[in-house]
Amino acid sequence: MMSGGGGADTVGSLLASIAMSLTEALRILMFADKRQWGPDEFEQIRVLEAALDEAKKDFQEMAPLVHGQFYYQNDRTGASLVELRALQAKFAAHAQNFRDWVRTGGPINPIWARETSELKRDLHRAQCRAARRIFSAEQDQPRCLGAFQVYRQQRRAEAERARRQRAQSERPPWQQQHEQEVEAQQQQDQGTAEPGNPSRRKTSLEDLVPVCNSVGRFERLGRHDAAYVCDFCDGFLIWHDILRVPAARTPLPPGSTYPNWQATGLTSGAEDGVPVGTEKQVVFPPLAIANHVPPDEGDFRARILCPYCDEYTYLDQGGQDSEEEMRYAQDERGFADVDKFREHLEWNHTALPVPAIPVISSSVSNCRVM
Ligand SMILES: [Zn+2]
Ligand SMILES: [Zn+2]
Ligand SMILES: [Zn+2]
Repeated sequence: MMSGGGGADTVGSLLASIAMSLTEALRILMFADKRQWGPDEFEQIRVLEAALDEAKKDFQEMAPLVHGQFYYQNDRTGASLVELRALQAKFAAHAQNFRDWVRTGGPINPIWARETSELKRDLHRAQCRAARRIFSAEQDQPRCLGAFQVYRQQRRAEAERARRQRAQSERPPWQQQHEQEVEAQQQQDQGTAEPGNPSRRKTSLEDLVPVCNSVGRFERLGRHDAAYVCDFCDGFLIWHDILRVPAARTPLPPGSTYPNWQATGLTSGAEDGVPVGTEKQVVFPPLAIANHVPPDEGDFRARILCPYCDEYTYLDQGGQDSEEEMRYAQDERGFADVDKFREHLEWNHTALPVPAIPVISSSVSNCRVM
């Protein structure tokens, strides 16, 4: 199973070799004399099992994202092989610890369990990135595979809702009307209604928070900022001057026909003269996450595409409003960061306060001003 020279390596062969190191470490522990064992030894078994399970689970989950197992396994993208080879060496050295330990005896080094968990995380990200590289090379889609995962979740939820609506339309009319009223009320309560076009109503972006957390993670960045870091592209989405990332959107004023992209954040005191905890409107994170593009070479910031400008490419809805609706309002690589994206949303997809500067665009899909 071990590949001789590095030349024959594939994603699959390197992952197999890593799995072998883990399996071997586990076997050593399983067959060791357990009479003197304390909690550290059992914890070590647990984390090794968890690492092996996660590696398998990720392997199984990545494959269908990139045209199946054969494809993923035989991939030879240079950057992926470099990363996985480095990890393979680390996992081999890690397994060697247990070989040495079983020869010398005595209590296990409790630091190894932490190392196992760190390696597990590194391997998870390496698999995410390997899949994303295949995805990026194959697809016309500029969005990151991580963003695409969030988008797919949204699609599934939308399909489910459409199915419910169909089931509903087969009921007696008096019952339908009642149910529609209930749903409209619920959406208004959640601020998720998109009036004027019920067939294209979106699922609640709030429902996407869990999948966002599985695709990457939120962290503090310095004293004032918050960042989302994607496991699939290592890209950073940064919210400047914010205490905490908001988990829900700000309800739209009743009757608004604009998309609901805003959430209320609290300032963290980065700006002179603005007291800590002042409310401000920010881009709701799942919206930016679902639309991010891997960073440009040499940059760490993920770029963002506006979903309201290019729904035609993203939603591949085809049919009636395809050609005419095509608008190349934005650069195909999107906006440089969350702040630029927010400026765009403010100018193009937000109702202006009534007596303010003249209205630039009047409908959701009218977005040409950059
Ligand atoms: Zn994983
Ligand atoms: Zn990403
Ligand atoms: Zn736009």
